[in-house]
Amino acid sequence: MSDLAERIAIITGSGQGIGRAIALELARRGARIVTNDVTGCCADDTLALVRELGSDGLAVTADVSDSAQVESLVKTVIDTFGQVDILVNNAGTTRDNLIMRMPEEEWDLIQRVNLKSAWLCSKAVIRPMMRRKYGRIINISSASGLMGQAGQTNYSASKAGMIGLTKALAREVASRGITVNAVAPGFIKTALTDKMPQDILDQLLPLIPAGRIGTVEDVAHAVVFLAGERASYITGQVLSVDGGLVMS
Ligand code: NAP
Repeated sequence: MSDLAERIAIITGSGQGIGRAIALELARRGARIVTNDVTGCCADDTLALVRELGSDGLAVTADVSDSAQVESLVKTVIDTFGQVDILVNNAGTTRDNLIMRMPEEEWDLIQRVNLKSAWLCSKAVIRPMMRRKYGRIINISSASGLMGQAGQTNYSASKAGMIGLTKALAREVASRGITVNAVAPGFIKTALTDKMPQDILDQLLPLIPAGRIGTVEDVAHAVVFLAGERASYITGQVLSVDGGLVMS
């Protein structure tokens, strides 16, 4: 299926994990893909996989929490392709700690990498999207932002902040053909969750009605739906992909 042919998609933090799966799923639908990482380890590898699927794109190493690097990234995309249609704000990380042990730097880092990055990237693509009267912005939030998670005051706050950003921006740009939605994954098997202690995972599994940890493809399928033509009347929403962990 190539319903996203001619679309240009930027997926931040797509060197591995959920971001890579989103990049590959969008490529399968025909979109050209801008991959991104911060260390330079893996964005090229994701682009190579995109090419194996018959699509193409660019790999850009950039820290998306830095405004100059974000502007440069988006300029490169516009100079190369002339447009940007889909932005997936996926880059993120964790620094878990109980609040009494959490240094201020761990609070600041998480707000910058998880939340400010999404604001910066959205701001950088919004003019080109408005000019074309078309855009899809998808923010990768988290169940932790919806329900709160002990040991994650910084992370839960950043992910709840992404939901506020999603709703406010959705209202600003809805009349210009741009939708802004969030996806809130639960526990998904990636390098990020591989860092979690086994006893915490053992406590969490019984709380998931589906009875399993999610896969990166579970999240990618939801993102591809929101990025597609058929989701044009859906905006300002949060789609949980968590096996029923959070039900509102
Ligand atoms: P991951 O495997 O650790 O991958 C994170 C990606 O983000 C990597 O490509 C990393 O690049 C990139 N990145 C980190 N900081 C960056 C920055 N400043 N600028 C650009 N790229 C940056 O993580 P994941 O589990 O796939 O998580 C992806 C997103 O889903 C995150 O926002 C996370 O909070 C969210 N999420 C994950 C889960 C889960 O269970 N895994 C659940 C809910 C939400 P490098 O490889 O160069 O470091």
